This record gives sequence, structure tokens and C-alpha cells, in this order.
Amino acid sequence: MKRVALIGATGSIGRQAIEIVEAHPELELCAAASGSTPLDDVDAPLKQVGGDLTELLERAEPDIVLNAVVGFAGIHATLWAMEHGVDLALANKESLVAAGELAAQAQARGGGRTLPVDSEHSALFQCLEERLPEQVHTLVLTGSGGPFRGRTRDELLNVTPEEALAHPTWRMGPKITVDSATLANKGLELIEAHFLFGVAYEQIEVVIQPTSIVHSLVRFRDGAALAHLGYPDMRVPISYALTYPDRAATPLPALDLTALTLEFESPDLETFPMLALAREAGEKGGSYPCAYNAANEVAVAAFLAGRIHFLGIADVVADALGRVDGSPARDLDELVEADRTARALADERLAVA
Ligand code: NAD
Ligand code: MG
Repeated sequence: MKRVALIGATGSIGRQAIEIVEAHPELELCAAASGSTPLDDVDAPLKQVGGDLTELLERAEPDIVLNAVVGFAGIHATLWAMEHGVDLALANKESLVAAGELAAQAQARGGGRTLPVDSEHSALFQCLEERLPEQVHTLVLTGSGGPFRGRTRDELLNVTPEEALAHPTWRMGPKITVDSATLANKGLELIEAHFLFGVAYEQIEVVIQPTSIVHSLVRFRDGAALAHLGYPDMRVPISYALTYPDRAATPLPALDLTALTLEFESPDLETFPMLALAREAGEKGGSYPCAYNAANEVAVAAFLAGRIHFLGIADVVADALGRVDGSPARDLDELVEADRTARALADERLAVA
């Protein structure tokens, strides 16, 4: 029996994770938590809505924590699992992006594993397995390009939240769906890949593959490239992480190769500045990635509330990144402070916008 603590149980990833757990007799839900949504229809011995989730994790004694919270709020569950040497199935990329080196230190102390749930990172993890970093030439993160791929900045001026929420290939929660439309999601994933795999930013590339069949690939130093292909369905990476290393069966059909189109293009960095801003924040290091994430969370919420237009999201983030000091956080308190400062700067900018 593997005891699974599911944090963020009512979301898009959380619901699909429950389906996976229910399908496997060797997986057992020992705890479930959400931010504010009731957990009445979730069957788990320990449940909590809101509040300090680390106490729940202490009591649950899980073998694996699936962190499916959205945003920086997932930081406590991520660091708890890492410090305690409990395996972490990580969907909550924002916590790793924000914590960066602090997470690496916690993981080194605790000695547990991080099993990525983000589809691109699950793909990279599988392509990389057991290979030495010096064998890697580049990691290539793929992205669909989102609903606005191919548009000009002028054509993005008046797009609505409804249009941004209509993702072409994935059904996800609202925050990550907007992030996919701005390419902030690929920006967060770039930083996530850097910290998960210890690969330098100049060795991580982003390429657009509109049908989301190629989930990412690794180029090796001998000229070989290994790619991970599959239909876009998060149950696959969730199941992979929860049943690792067994690769349990899922209900997905086998990939029909003759029915596929695989085309690749470069991302449009001028129209979608959030990707370049992420690279810059990642390369600067310190608490810049934390600030990037925090300002983005504030800006996306403002866009969804109709307070700013779509292109304003990147303006808010660029402005905050230009004003934070970016010094590294030495502990969780300093990290929470860096997050709060960047949020306050983003709020300030919104107030004058
Ligand atoms: P969602 O909005 O559908 O669900 C978010 C969940 O987090 C909900 O259960 C909510 O109650 C919970 N939550 C929010 N604030 C909380 C708090 N303070 N404490 C505890 N729980 C809290 O989001 P989602 O689409 O499921 O995404 C979850 C995470 O997974 C995000 O980090 C996202 O980037 C990542 N991810 C999602 C997908 C996807 O297909 N949905 C794919 C890759 C990565
Ligand atoms: Mg992803």
C-alpha cells in the first residue's frame, strides 16, 4: 500500500488524481486538502479545508505527497515533503520556482525524491532517467503556444478572459490556463526544469508543438534526441508519479501515429514577453523567480477580474521585477517576505493602471 496525501484535491489535477488512486488497489488516499472548496465528496480519513496544511501532513504519515495546489500557497506542502524525505509528486510548479535553492537544500537534507507531475517535466524525467548531466546537450520544453498562437500584439489588445480560458489542447484550472495564453506557464516551466534537473538556462530551449503530442525531449551530446510522446492527458503523468517506478496502466488508448501531425515552431518572444521575462528572472537567480511568480499571480487575478487587459499582465510583472532587490531568501520567512513584497509592488502598479 502506498499512502497518498493529496493537497489541492478539488482542482483539475486533484480530481484526476482521485480517479487514478481509485483505480489502483495499491494506492490509498490518507489525507485530502483544499483551499476553500468543500471536500464532502472526497473519501479520505483526514480532510482539511484551508489553514496550515503541514499539521495535516504530519498526522497523515504519507508515503507520497501530491501537491496539486495552485500558486505560491503550495510552498508549505512542498518544503514539508522535502524536509521530511517524503516523496513529492509535484504539480505545484510555483512553489519550486519560488523556492529554488531553498528547495534544493531541503531536499538534500530530507533525502526524498521529487517526481514531476507537470507533463513536460515528467517527459524529461523519463527521457533523462539514469543518465549523467554531462551527457545532456539540451533540454527542449514543448508548449502548445496557447489559444493566441500566431496573433500579433494588436490582435491581443482586447482579448477577454473567456477567450484566454479556451485552451486548444488541455483542460486545466483558470490560473494555469491564462499562464498558457501568456506563455508565463512555459516561463515557470523553464525555471522549474532548471531546478528539477540542475541544467543551466542556456541549455534549456522552448519550442512550440501545437497539438501537444510531444511532451518534451532531451538532446544528448552524441547527437541522439529522446522524445516523450502521448495524447495530452494529465492522468498519464499523475499516474506515472504516483505509481513510480511501476508505470501502472491507465485507460488511455495507444498512440495512433498515422493520425498525427507533428509541427514545430519557435515561440514569438515579442508578442509573448512573459517567456523572456522568466528566462531573465531565472538567470538573475536569487529571489527574482519568486518575484516573477508572485507578480504574475497578482496580474492574472486582475486580468480574470477584468481590471487589466491581457497585455497588461506582462507590464505588471516587468515593472515588479524592475523594482525588487532580488536578493536570495535564506529561509522560508525571507521567501514569504520576498513573495509579499513583489505582490505589493504589483498591487501598486495595478492601482495606478
Ligand atoms: P485548480 O485551480 O483547478 O485547483 C487548485 C487547487 O488548489 C484546488 O483544490 C484549491 O482548493 C487548492 N488551493 C488553492 N489555494 C489553496 C491553499 N491556500 N491551500 C490549499 N489548497 C489550495 O488548479 P489546477 O489546474 O489543478 O493546477 C494545480 C497545480 O498544478 C498548479 O500549480 C498548476 O500549474 C499545476 N499543473 C496543472 C495542470 C493541469 O492540467 N491542470 C498541468 C500541469 C501543472
Ligand atoms: Mg506543463
